[in-house]
Amino acid sequence: MGKNGTQTPIYLDYAAATPVNQDVLEAMQPFFVEEFYNPSAGYLAAKQVRKTIETARHTIAKVLGARPAEIVFTAGATEANNLAIHGVMKAFPGSHVVVSAIEHESVLAPAKQYDALVAPVLADGRIDVDSLAKTIQPKTVLVSIMYANNEIGTVQPVHDVAKLIAQIRSERVNAANRTPLYLHVDAAQAPLYLDLHPGRLGIDLMSLNGGKIYGPKQSGALFVRTGVNLQPQVVGGGQEFGLRSGTENVPAIVGFAKALEMAQQQRNDESKRLAECSQYFIDLLKEALPFIQINGSKKHRLPNNVHITISGIDNERIMMELDERGIQCAVGSACSASNDEPSHVLKAIGLTDGEAQASLRFTLGRQTTKEQLAFVVRTMRELIHD
Ligand code: PLP
Repeated sequence: MGKNGTQTPIYLDYAAATPVNQDVLEAMQPFFVEEFYNPSAGYLAAKQVRKTIETARHTIAKVLGARPAEIVFTAGATEANNLAIHGVMKAFPGSHVVVSAIEHESVLAPAKQYDALVAPVLADGRIDVDSLAKTIQPKTVLVSIMYANNEIGTVQPVHDVAKLIAQIRSERVNAANRTPLYLHVDAAQAPLYLDLHPGRLGIDLMSLNGGKIYGPKQSGALFVRTGVNLQPQVVGGGQEFGLRSGTENVPAIVGFAKALEMAQQQRNDESKRLAECSQYFIDLLKEALPFIQINGSKKHRLPNNVHITISGIDNERIMMELDERGIQCAVGSACSASNDEPSHVLKAIGLTDGEAQASLRFTLGRQTTKEQLAFVVRTMRELIHD
């Protein structure tokens, strides 16, 4: 038990993982034991399971305003990002990819294999669209930017980037340059709070993740706009339109569809509630610790993200002491927690190594209350002033 007066810890790391929602869990349940069939089998019961997958695909397509055939189920966003980047780059050998400096490792690592060009970000973590325009070369086939950053919560100007890409495409037509230019967006952190309509946004490929939206981990999808040329990365039985072979993970697919639908239904109310909670938290923090610095964009930010630097602290120590008192938060991105290097995201927005090591990330979620946040601030004041 934590020392926060309750049995359960105060969880403030929703950007790393979310608990599976009860309705999601119930929707998944039948597909573990009763309806366990291989959807490719020929008997009626298996065909019913195949139908369930297609219903989930329809649900997702409807949420995104896309076609069912544009949804490829994957085991999470890492796989979707890899499929997008390797898939396009292998279809267009000799071309290159541009990524932003603050992408998730699951974009940066595959992109590095094709000598990616890196577009810088401004001090608030937003892409500078003019610099991006200069980074894109005549042989660039893919631009990959994230919708919202997992560490500092900055929301990128996806619409402006899409407009730039549309303009470059028409210039290419005039210049008889036949290299296509695709926009891939890693939207792993977006569905709970942002518009997810790839048509409206001008997106060609979009990675989604169930584990961040109260669905199961290792669930997700890649949206692939009709006409995008992609080489499959996992080959075999030809499932998922030949783009991702392997017997389908039916409970994960069903749970992901349900979680995505709920996320988008609740996004306006939950964004409003969490923006208020975050502001309350920031106000209390500033009162208790006037020297803190808030990282990322004030205006273009996920409503649940509070990322701070507290000059002079050792973030690992504070994180562990908070944990001992029943408060769970992050020092960096749990998705790349395997190394001790200061975060590339914080470096890209201009923080020194020392500042990066004095930074903490709190990400709020459906179970977060103002009372919890007030307790966290009281605890931090004790820890930092003592
Ligand atoms: N992209 C972003 C922005 C993320 O936050 C994460 C989180 O871990 C991922 C990709 C990778 O997701 P997963 O580890 O679930 O595959």
